[in-house]
Formats: sequence, C-alpha cells, structure tokens
Amino acid sequence: MPPFTRSASGRGHLSEHARLLQYVLCVRERSTRAVPWEPHTVGVPAPRSSSALARINDVAFYANAREEVSALAGVCVDLLYLHTPVTGEHGECHCGGCLLAWPCPTFARLCRLLA
Ligand SMILES: [Zn+2]
Repeated sequence: MPPFTRSASGRGHLSEHARLLQYVLCVRERSTRAVPWEPHTVGVPAPRSSSALARINDVAFYANAREEVSALAGVCVDLLYLHTPVTGEHGECHCGGCLLAWPCPTFARLCRLLA
C-alpha cells in the first residue's frame, strides 16, 4: 500500500498529512540546496537518440530541473498548508481550506499523485 494513502481514522489522516508535508518539504529543500546543473559539473548523460532536437530538450531539462522541481514542490507545500485537517467541536474532521469532510478531494489527489 502506498505510504500516503492508508485508510485510517481521522487521527491517522492527520499523520498522513504531516508525513506528506514533510516529504514535499524535504524535496523542496533538497532541490533548493542542490548545486545548479552545468554541463561541466556532472556532465551530460549519453543521448538516447541521434536527434539534435531531443538532445537540446535533454539539456534544457537538466538545466531547469532544479528550479522547476523546487517550484513544483513549493506548490505542493502551499496546497498542503491550505488543505489541512481541522477537528471540529464534536470530533469530526474537515479540511480547513475547502471545508469538505477530511480527507478532502485535493488532499486525496495529492496523496495519489505523490505516493
Ligand atoms: Zn481541502
């Protein structure tokens, strides 16, 4: 079973939210702290095709991956801060962002996509 999609009680979902948030925070931190890619820093992997356009695409991917991964992880962090479980007066759990029952569809989708 994927680590972020376990069916559990409200308390279990709280820890799933914390685990997923910790995961994306770590991804963002690693990508932010990584040395920017340059052809001379780690080289360029061997091409898988003889297409010059494919090679340009590969190099553009490596050159931008650090910033793009960091930005995408930041989006995930913001979404997780927005879609956070909140326990109501009577013990029911709902999303503090969209107010739907917890786990809300956004959190459930993030779990499926990132697991
Ligand atoms: Zn929500």
